[in-house]
Amino acid sequence: MTLRVGLSGGIGSGKSTVSAQLASLGAVVVDADTVAREVVGPGTPGLAQIADRFGPDVIAADGSLDRPALGQVVFGDARARRDLEGITHPLIRRRSQELFESAPDDAVVVHDVPLLVELGMGADYALTVIVDVPEEERLRRLVELRGMDEEAARSRIRAQADDEQRRAAADVLLDNAGTLDDLHARVNDLWSGRIVPFRDHLADGIPGSAAPGAARAGEGERLRARVEAALGRPLGEGVDPDILDEPAARHGLHRRGLLVLTGDGQAGVDGRASGASDEVVIASADPASAARLRLRVG
Ligand code: ADP
Repeated sequence: MTLRVGLSGGIGSGKSTVSAQLASLGAVVVDADTVAREVVGPGTPGLAQIADRFGPDVIAADGSLDRPALGQVVFGDARARRDLEGITHPLIRRRSQELFESAPDDAVVVHDVPLLVELGMGADYALTVIVDVPEEERLRRLVELRGMDEEAARSRIRAQADDEQRRAAADVLLDNAGTLDDLHARVNDLWSGRIVPFRDHLADGIPGSAAPGAARAGEGERLRARVEAALGRPLGEGVDPDILDEPAARHGLHRRGLLVLTGDGQAGVDGRASGASDEVVIASADPASAARLRLRVG
């Protein structure tokens, strides 16, 4: 199965630069902004639904979505915004899923999502990579390199999560405060030293084994959040062992890079713990992660 990597970072952090480099290294990149535009492109059912709900004025003369007009309609109207999201979000989810599933089996799929942290999607991936640059430097790059108006850039930055929130979601914090060459070298290292081994270890059932302390803070919490997302329920006291055998749960764990281990720390047959133990241990195949989650079963 493919390894799914989430990629994000504040506006101006260098996320697009990283995503382009990962693509050139061989990743299949799914760009959330592109998908969001595509599902409401001219002639799509998505655009027809929007016209039905918001009227013909939100369609431009060339048959495309008139974004400024739609923006006017939903601005400050929570109900209209909810309706709009009710139309677009399922379409975006379905199309993204199609793209993920059409990637080759041994692919690394990178989902480039500007609002990954804001949307609480960190636990949906095997690895969440955040490009990290202090806010003032991002502002400088947006204004000087991308020619944005300073006030507009500030307000875009303010509308997003702050750097601390983003850092908490990150398995990998990719520092891009230095030069483009520095970034380039870091992305190469990340690819060959962590992402590719992660994909291979996941396929082979080899859990991570980094020295404790090498991991980023919050590793245990991120593992727990992934397991809860995979099982679709809070963990509470323990889990019903049958849940771990459900195909949806297995699939959910696997696509988050997680392995169910037996007592001796090996991946169980079919990824399931063997023996009569009343405990299962879940670990990531991320080679840089030593976190283990012990679950009481039964
Ligand atoms: P994002 O996609 O996160 O908004 P970009 O990848 O477009 O960010 O980067 C913002 C701008 O900063 C671009 O002009 C990019 O070329 C430039 N940039 C990215 N990283 C660096 C860096 N380390 N040093 C200097 N400029 C950079």
